[in-house]
This record gives sequence, C-alpha cells and structure tokens, in this order.
Amino acid sequence: MNELALPEPLVQRLKNIYRAMEEDYDEVARQLRFGCSGCPDNCCDSYFLHHTSIEWAYLWQGMRQLSPEQQREILHRAAGVVRVCQEELTHGRRPVVMCPLNEHGLCVLYPYRLLVCRTHGVPAVMTRPDGKRLSFPGCFRCQEVVRARGNDAGVPFVDRTRLLQQLVMVENELTQRFRRPRPRIRMTIAEMLVEGPPTLP
Ligand code: SF4
Ligand code: SF4
Repeated sequence: MNELALPEPLVQRLKNIYRAMEEDYDEVARQLRFGCSGCPDNCCDSYFLHHTSIEWAYLWQGMRQLSPEQQREILHRAAGVVRVCQEELTHGRRPVVMCPLNEHGLCVLYPYRLLVCRTHGVPAVMTRPDGKRLSFPGCFRCQEVVRARGNDAGVPFVDRTRLLQQLVMVENELTQRFRRPRPRIRMTIAEMLVEGPPTLP
C-alpha cells in the first residue's frame, strides 16, 4: 500500500495551527498563573483518541527523525500499550497507561505531538458545527487553581473552535486525494505507531 505523502504546504499550515494553539494555551496559563512544573501527575498516561490522518502522518515524520534503535524501542512499548488498553477496555475500564513516546517524563517527539497534547490543561470551550458549545474545565490541577481564585465568572479560557475548524479544513484537503473514504479514525497514539504511517485507502 502507498504511504500517504504529506504536501509541505499542508505541513506548514498544521504547524501554524499548532503554534497558535500553544500561544492561546500559554496566554490562558499566564492569566491563571498556572504551569505543569511540580505536578505530581503526568497526563501522558491519559486515554485519548485522535482523529486526523494529517496528525498521524506528521507524527510519523517525527518518528523517522529518531534512530532505528529508538524507533524499535518505541514500537515495542507501543505494542504493549495497545495490548493493555484493549484488556482494560474489554473490562469496561478507562485505560491509564503511559504513552510510549514518554521517556523519563518527557515527550521524545515534542515538536510532533498531537493536538490533544497541546491543549489539555487549561479551561477551554469549543462550538461544534451543530452549534452545541462544549466546555472543558482543564486538568485536575488547573481546576484547583481556578477554585482557589474563587471567581468562576472571571475564569479565562481558550476557545478552540477556530483552530479546530482550520484543522478540519487541512485534513479535508489532504483526504480529498483519497480514492475512497477512509473509515473514521479513532486511534490512540500507540495505535498510530503500531499501525505504521497512514496509507492511501
Ligand atoms: S496539564 Fe495538568 S495534569 Fe497534566 S502535567 Fe500539567 S499540571 Fe499536571
Ligand atoms: S505524544 Fe508526547 S505529549 Fe503526547 S501523550 Fe505522548 S508523550 Fe505525552
């Protein structure tokens, strides 16, 4: 099967979206005086599903920067993570298992990490295409910071709507090249690694 090639202009647009998300995040974190330093948790063990071919392909651009040995180690860990997640889900539990890209508490593919990795933490909202507005309170530690401020009405937040719409547009431009539609993507990072880079459906 042919690997899905990522046109450079789309990569640049994805990077711009990622950068803008980080800036929005940093601004809200600054206003809340919130940061991850000293956190007893590491949210890289959270169970998240990811939905775009472009992020999946870009993650693999990062993988290819690593040495063959490091890639092998990561893929070995990823296979273990996929196994544990399947077992947990089978038993009706939400998996809590460290991402295979996390080494000693740090992300080995930090510049290539996915959207969720860049947005989890501070309060956020998002308006869906059907007009429904979703709210995210932020991670447990940020919620503590918000509670300590004691003024819920004045809580700053990131509005993810515009940048998510831009991501959907980039994804649509990429997938227009498919000969037939790919089934909806609902994959963990470990699954994106174990599957290898995305291919043309
Ligand atoms: S986002 Fe929240 S839970 Fe995750 S590392 Fe930062 S402070 Fe900890
Ligand atoms: S890709 Fe990186 S930041 Fe995202 S969960 Fe994995 S280790 Fe954490």
